[in-house]
Amino acid sequence: MAAPVVSLTSTISFHGLKLLCHKKYQVLYRFQKEIVSVNQHSQASSSFRLLSKNPLVSHPDSDIVRFSAALSVEQVKKYLNPSFMSLVVVGSMAFDAIETPFGKSDKIIGGAATYIAYSASNFTKPIKQISVVGGDFPQSELDALTARGVQLEGVQIKKDEKSFFWSGRYHMDMNTRDTLETQLNVLENFSPVVPESYQDCEFLMLGNLVPAVQRSVIQQMKKRPKLIVMDTMNFWMEIALADLKDVLTMVDVLMVNDSEARELSHEYSLVKAANKILTMGPKYLIIKKGEHGALLFHDNHVFFAPALPLEDVFDPTGAGDTFAGGFIGHLAKTKDISFDNMKTAIIMGSAMASFCVEKFGTQRLIEITRKEIDERLGEFVELVNFDIDLV
Ligand code: AMP
Repeated sequence: MAAPVVSLTSTISFHGLKLLCHKKYQVLYRFQKEIVSVNQHSQASSSFRLLSKNPLVSHPDSDIVRFSAALSVEQVKKYLNPSFMSLVVVGSMAFDAIETPFGKSDKIIGGAATYIAYSASNFTKPIKQISVVGGDFPQSELDALTARGVQLEGVQIKKDEKSFFWSGRYHMDMNTRDTLETQLNVLENFSPVVPESYQDCEFLMLGNLVPAVQRSVIQQMKKRPKLIVMDTMNFWMEIALADLKDVLTMVDVLMVNDSEARELSHEYSLVKAANKILTMGPKYLIIKKGEHGALLFHDNHVFFAPALPLEDVFDPTGAGDTFAGGFIGHLAKTKDISFDNMKTAIIMGSAMASFCVEKFGTQRLIEITRKEIDERLGEFVELVNFDIDLV
């Protein structure tokens, strides 16, 4: 029997067609609750954009919302159900030992994919994780991630091997650090397997990891994700540059810090570096500058977002990954990959990173609440909001 058909036009006409922007959002929101009862979306403007960019909806640049199609209930559910907008995260899960001018940690839980998952889980769920750990990785840490909506089917556990280990020491400015030791351990021969249940991936976040592993995950995806974002670091530029450059040709967005952008491009000027890197594959480039914020480059456009000036920075480890998690989490939540929405995503990333640095390791990210995130976003708006008279 054919699936029942929901006429969106009639639902919307019940509320009237000519609506102000804010009302439009409410109508769409009510539509969701009435017809498919999906999870609650916040009333943020980003959620509005999500719906207006919905390909099922025509949204001319006017106050009028028109629905272009009659859809089956199954089509509507498929489109709006978050499990169909899946975010897959690839990256290291690790033990870290960190030294800062203010303290020192023993082996604590870290890894790019760990930070990304904790951060992104504030925006979208489930997060489908791909990584590898040794038998020494605590089950309680895996359980904590599961409780946050992180699926671990793609995380291999090598019982007889040791987890990846990294140790680093920060300089007095907390913006630069030296890697003291990198023990690849389980990462050395890691061959990722993308589970069948991850094949609906629309957003793929390639966290810092062996470039060949990042490439293997892209190649295993039967359908190309809507957006592929890649993070990497100088370590891989030094030992796997050819692979790294190959992966660059396959991704949409690259994220690196300023010194990595310089190393990759052999240019000191970040504008020249960006122009060069944008010819290597990615259409968008984000250059992270620690406490000095982040730049987003695309074609001839550039956008700058500051970092929040914080009284105390305790441990910057994972700030870049946390930023990546907020960035991709927001994009996956809103399903809008326009340059404008990427600007909002950068602010989300910066807000999340500002929490990460307040305590050692993942500790602060684990405690964080939605209310705190909203308050911090408010602080960002305040920080960059100014009126100026041009005389
Ligand atoms: P971030 O401070 O955002 O650059 O990320 C720090 C995290 O990256 C730490 O938790 C480390 O475990 C992880 N990490 C450090 N070096 C590497 C590497 N070569 N490959 C993958 N992950 C790494």
